[in-house]
Amino acid sequence: MALTQAMLQSIHDEVFRQDDWGKPAQYIPELATIPPDQFAISVCLADGHCLKAGVADKPFSIQSVSKVFSLAATLGRVGGQLWTRVGREPSGTAFDSVVLLEKEQGRPRNPFVNAGAIVTTDALLSGREPKQALAETLGLVRAMAETDQIYINSKVAASEKATGARNRALAHYLQSHGNLTNDPDLTLGTYFHQCAIEMTTTQLAMAGRSLAGLENAPKVIARAHARRINALMMTCGHYDGSGEFAFQVGLPGKSGVGGGILVIAPGVASIAIWSPGLNHYGNSHAGTRAAAMLSDMTGWSVF
Ligand code: GLU
Repeated sequence: MALTQAMLQSIHDEVFRQDDWGKPAQYIPELATIPPDQFAISVCLADGHCLKAGVADKPFSIQSVSKVFSLAATLGRVGGQLWTRVGREPSGTAFDSVVLLEKEQGRPRNPFVNAGAIVTTDALLSGREPKQALAETLGLVRAMAETDQIYINSKVAASEKATGARNRALAHYLQSHGNLTNDPDLTLGTYFHQCAIEMTTTQLAMAGRSLAGLENAPKVIARAHARRINALMMTCGHYDGSGEFAFQVGLPGKSGVGGGILVIAPGVASIAIWSPGLNHYGNSHAGTRAAAMLSDMTGWSVF
């Protein structure tokens, strides 16, 4: 069914009828105190229109949604070589888990768990300064969203660096298995800054158009890469909540601990949702509900 403004508004209103908003990410001090009862949704359609409801022009920390963009940039740079270092299977473990790395000799299950994203960023960084790799990722995001008004919040990056013991552990573990080519601090610095990109839901929905393969999207990602990225978003985009997201929503999606979710309806729409309170998987609580409502209303599930 065609999406209308009234449908988006009804999703917004339904979200505000709930009492439980979840809790913002507590391990990144800059994000921990954000009031959870906030919501935004933006949808860019194949006809070129974008609809929105809630605080759709408020920038938020995209965190792991950035892994989609760094993966696209890395595939553009090194192509299929990346898969010699990272797998393509769901992990069934939390985003920052170290368990499988130990069992699988330092080869992360997929590019969306932290360990896999750190390897992906490491591949993008190779032979260059962190600021060049960051400029490539940020440049791609800006080109996809068709705006230069997207920035990295260095306070958020510093805040994560200060408390990032787990990611440091992952990077050093990867290094011990020969699966990190740069100094762990350089790779992690690049990774923390990439996660600290801030976007509004409207900018994020605009950026997702290339993944959705919409006619009006800038042609900055190869279609073959977009198809693979969407497949990984479907199977791995919500960590150990990926099966539940596929069950409830039936669309490729990538979450971040900042409370953002990018959802792709291939050929139909690019959707961005934000609400900073998280569920126990570390995915947006209200955002996941809203994505399910949208999918039910429109019938956009790929199944
Ligand atoms: N920067 C976050 C971390 O590495 C990203 C996690 C996420 O958004 O899921 O812990």
